[in-house]
Amino acid sequence: MKDYLKHDPWSIIEEGFHHAYNEITESVMSLGNGRMGQRGNFEEQFSGPTLQGNYVAGVYYPDKTRVGWWKNGYPEYFAKVLNATNWIGIQVDVDYETLDLSTCDVWDFRRELNMREGYLKRSFSARLKSGREVRVEAIRFCSLVDDEAGAIRYSVTPLNFDGKLTLTPFLNGDIKNRDANYDEKFWDEVHKETAYGEAYLELRTKKTGFHVLTGMKFQVFQNGQTVEFQSLPVKLEKYVANKVSLDIRQGEETTLVKYAVNLSSENHPTDELLVRAKQYVARIFRKGFDQLRSEQAQAWADKWKFMDIVIEGDVAAQQGIRFNLFQLSQTYTGEDERLNIGPKGFTGEKYGGSTYWDTEAYCLPFYLATADPKVARNLLRYRYKHLPKAIENAHKLGFKAGAALYPMVTMNGEECHNEWEITFEEIHRNGAIAYAIFDYVRATGDERYLVEYGLEVLIGIARFWTQRVNWSTEKQKYVMLGVTGPNEYENNVNNNWYTNYIACWCLEYAIQTAQRVKEIDPERYRTLRDRIHFREDKEIATARDIIENMYFPVHEDLGIFSQQDGYFDKEQTLVKDLPAGQRPLNQKWSWDRILRSPFIKQADVLQGLYFFEDRFDDATIRRNYEYYEPRTVHESSLSPCVHAILAAKLGLKEKAYEFYLRTSRLDLDDYNNDTEDGCHITSMAGTWMAVVKGFGGMRVRDGKVSFAPFCPAQWISYAFTVRHRGALLTIQCTPTEVVIENLSPQPVELLLFDKPLTVKAKGVERVSI
Ligand code: BGC
Repeated sequence: MKDYLKHDPWSIIEEGFHHAYNEITESVMSLGNGRMGQRGNFEEQFSGPTLQGNYVAGVYYPDKTRVGWWKNGYPEYFAKVLNATNWIGIQVDVDYETLDLSTCDVWDFRRELNMREGYLKRSFSARLKSGREVRVEAIRFCSLVDDEAGAIRYSVTPLNFDGKLTLTPFLNGDIKNRDANYDEKFWDEVHKETAYGEAYLELRTKKTGFHVLTGMKFQVFQNGQTVEFQSLPVKLEKYVANKVSLDIRQGEETTLVKYAVNLSSENHPTDELLVRAKQYVARIFRKGFDQLRSEQAQAWADKWKFMDIVIEGDVAAQQGIRFNLFQLSQTYTGEDERLNIGPKGFTGEKYGGSTYWDTEAYCLPFYLATADPKVARNLLRYRYKHLPKAIENAHKLGFKAGAALYPMVTMNGEECHNEWEITFEEIHRNGAIAYAIFDYVRATGDERYLVEYGLEVLIGIARFWTQRVNWSTEKQKYVMLGVTGPNEYENNVNNNWYTNYIACWCLEYAIQTAQRVKEIDPERYRTLRDRIHFREDKEIATARDIIENMYFPVHEDLGIFSQQDGYFDKEQTLVKDLPAGQRPLNQKWSWDRILRSPFIKQADVLQGLYFFEDRFDDATIRRNYEYYEPRTVHESSLSPCVHAILAAKLGLKEKAYEFYLRTSRLDLDDYNNDTEDGCHITSMAGTWMAVVKGFGGMRVRDGKVSFAPFCPAQWISYAFTVRHRGALLTIQCTPTEVVIENLSPQPVELLLFDKPLTVKAKGVERVSI
């Protein structure tokens, strides 16, 4: 765990340059706007530890699979989020000496990610080897309003000399993914050009053929006045720049303002990219830095209005939650149904592909409660559009008749994960996709979604489960063999309780949905039935038989579910008895040792009890929680939030708070020693859930929203805003009182601590705890 970033309610601040932690800071200080994003790299050259990272949404590369032992069914490639042209670069030469913070003395260094207004600011003083000293101030952002553009203002002031300053704003596409399997470069150059004060670089991805055109235009000021400058064009392989040399005088500031755009062939006709990039960059140049920045501040203010969580009395907790909300919102804006939420967003390369079950299981509730329902619908539609590929994927593995297995990791619907124990076995992901449909309809009441898209997906998923189970003559039950549950520290197990449970639930929900769709739109139902050859009676009968005769492993004496067959044969040691130096296990232990241990990576049985809490009594949930949590190492970022919610439900307030802090400050404090790879974007929605579903006790039941809040002892109060079926509510909770404000123009009926409560339009209700 690290503690070098300053606590502040609205900003992430690094004071003094932490050279060795630079890659962590770069992850944390990432910027994005849904269309593009980048790590918190320096504009000028830096030869110290850095992962230069710029990413363009939807643009990926199918990196040829690399495995030791090829297994039939492996995907040919792993789709990687592509490290793209570096558009922030500005080389700084002071009298022919290059500024590089790794090679000079640095003081008064400060880097701030301002989350309220959405910008990254950096300032420092540096003494170069020659003894020349400069002061630098830089600020930049990825515009939310013009979401294919970004802007930088970079100022240099000589502190102890008069001389020459050469500023070289550049676009560098000669970039490699650090996680490239064969150390290949993924881009080819298509076109480059430079002109006075501007330059353009068009690259095309190998194999996938995406084009990205990056353009820049810049201006220079000295002491606040525009300067006419001479510029020398530089063209190298996949690189364009303009070199500008200026005379500078001690104490006088020189500023370069650089505007850049990234246009991709996903959003523009390829043959118009250049002309559109020129128009785009000219337009934002005309707007100017100050206007762009004030529009940016306004756009962020609008976002915060609906999603902010305000915590009084605990700056670390406040900073944590805002950091999560900020990063999540800059990764996915919900406007484009082709995009999704990668586990690392635009903050790093690990995990490659963009979509995991994380989206459905963890992110969806956040968007359902804080954004227009069309955002959650877009996330569901994304999977609907991938249904044919999910069917193809299952077919490749030997399933038939329209059975669908959604991929563990994907960009375009095709599976690209290639570890057999996950690709073929971590099939519970199919359940999360069905659950998301249920969650969406429960929250929005939009049953038309079921008619138009949902049922078809549910039938594909149900068909998979009915073929994936087999009848055990010994047990006289259906069993599910050779799976990996959410706990990836167990592979190839039989009868993972969670997987068996969610499989049966999917079958039930598919049957129920088929009946419902038949009622509300019989004609559409018939059309779908015929199109996908849904043999209603037979398929439903098979599903019912499985539901009624499925095997669920339990430990009778302990009164708990067994994570899988044989779990209790393991030596039952506890996490608290593990020496601190042996954790995280995935970095300290051999895989063999992990597999034989009882230690659990993330919620598994408890994931099921979280999803389906209404089907279990509190005593059952408590017994399972008390057994499994002490064996859980929480080495997936997705783990603490589920535990926070369950702990809160069971009245274990201190525990819930502990888990909240762990999820909310996971990256800021580098809990799992891996923030340098990028931030844990998908689990950030889990942090929101820990507050709203955990402390706030928010649930949606029978179309009504309900709350059962408590205030953690460490806080004076907290408040969050949620939407529910057209209503907008702010819930504020102190240790003694809940205040519910209805911001909408219609009354809202809800449940508070299980009791009905009507809050008048624009009204406020106060209830003592
Ligand atoms: C977790 C998975 C998750 C993936 C991406 C893994 O460490 O075990 O559940 O889908 O990370 O976040």
